[in-house]
Amino acid sequence: MIALRSLRRTRPTGARAYCELDRWSFDPRYTQGRCPICGWAPDGAPTYPRWLVLANRVDWELAGLLLLVDVLVLLGLVVARAVGLLR
Ligand SMILES: [Zn+2]
Repeated sequence: MIALRSLRRTRPTGARAYCELDRWSFDPRYTQGRCPICGWAPDGAPTYPRWLVLANRVDWELAGLLLLVDVLVLLGLVVARAVGLLR
């Protein structure tokens, strides 16, 4: 139990920053790398959460267009099969 607690403690729970001026602890990943009260930017703090960086890399419009084309081809095949064009 003690080992589990120490493991949990050493695991990184996220980037926390502490603003001395406001005496406020915050996660810079969700405040665009800055203190939400005074705007102080800690050095080396991540600006965005990792999932947001990955999501911004994906071209969602092109992925949606390809998905739409796939669905339309599938519907076309279903209709062609239903009217007897495909055997
Ligand atoms: Zn501050």
